[in-house]
Amino acid sequence: MESWTDIRSMNMEELTAAVEAAGEKKFRAKQIYGWLHQKLIRSGDEMKNVPAACREKILREHPLYGVTEVERYVSKIDGTSKFLFELYDGNIIESVLMKYKHGNSVCISSQAGCRMGCRFCASTLLGLSRNLYPSEMLDQIYAIQRATGERVSHIVVMGTGEPFDNFEALCRMIEMLTDEQGLHISRRNITVSTCGLVPKIYEFADRYPQVTLAISLHAPNDVMRRELMPVANRYAMKELMEAADYYVEKTGRRITFEYSLVKDVNDQKEHAEMLSALVKGLNCHINLIPVNPVKEREYRQSEQNHIQAFQHILEKHHIQVTVRREMGRDISAACGQLRKGYKERSGNG
Ligand code: SAH
Repeated sequence: MESWTDIRSMNMEELTAAVEAAGEKKFRAKQIYGWLHQKLIRSGDEMKNVPAACREKILREHPLYGVTEVERYVSKIDGTSKFLFELYDGNIIESVLMKYKHGNSVCISSQAGCRMGCRFCASTLLGLSRNLYPSEMLDQIYAIQRATGERVSHIVVMGTGEPFDNFEALCRMIEMLTDEQGLHISRRNITVSTCGLVPKIYEFADRYPQVTLAISLHAPNDVMRRELMPVANRYAMKELMEAADYYVEKTGRRITFEYSLVKDVNDQKEHAEMLSALVKGLNCHINLIPVNPVKEREYRQSEQNHIQAFQHILEKHHIQVTVRREMGRDISAACGQLRKGYKERSGNG
């Protein structure tokens, strides 16, 4: 079992043990936890009712890590905001705040970089730098709530990185985020997106049946999926669909498939037919995403009429389908492109 020693990644039990090890009274743990996860403080001296000597002793052993805003882009069209954050070691990550009628949704990164290698994705171009700590996932949400003064109600783990490649930290983050001593966000308001690490899908369905799962499918068969996503060489489509079945059976909930439409690659009518056959009978929702062109790759976005035709075929087969609304189009830089652009500009790439 992984464990983290930075103070914002520690759960109440670990924090209590640390407080006692420092020779302090147990109730200090509860106070400190509240400052960190409800009042969302940025530095130790903000813990007003904790004596300086006490917090210093604990912070010496358990540093306070978080994220620091370095850039922010706000869309004039829909108010979507993209944040570039710096980590304590200089790594850069990105997060997005989207405003919907049903509430504010934050999309967070789970890793600095990614090692999954999906061909159309900018996040993976520079490889994986490192896993994020639970505190660094949480603080993306906390920092956005602090900066905007707006309550965040929904979380999607769809930023840079593969969350199931940083599984224990993801689980810890979910537990702390949904804890009543933290922001107390409902598990049903959390969505985790994976490129399809099959064993982890089973584990996740068992541990967090209320959390929504999205699987990045992007192709209707093995041959095509292997061309777009190296992970498809590790897990065949059949195994992936069995895992999806398991999630639906186990949780009684609908699963989401993401399907990025790439011009002339996976956007033809026969692909829509194959996809329909693949998911037939499964309680699912398909989210079609017009691919965001990445300058290092030659993939292009499908034309409008192809997107519509694709959608209509799925509808004809009574499959629930939506085309993802592009948020913050004017601040572009979707899917890891902000981070990469920043690294190039600052000579940090
Ligand atoms: N690693 C996870 C989550 C991060 S990516 C996963 O693979 O699901 C979030 C979604 O954006 C995934 O479906 C991913 O395939 C998709 N994506 C990545 N780059 C994209 C691009 N250039 N255009 C459209 N979708 C993209």
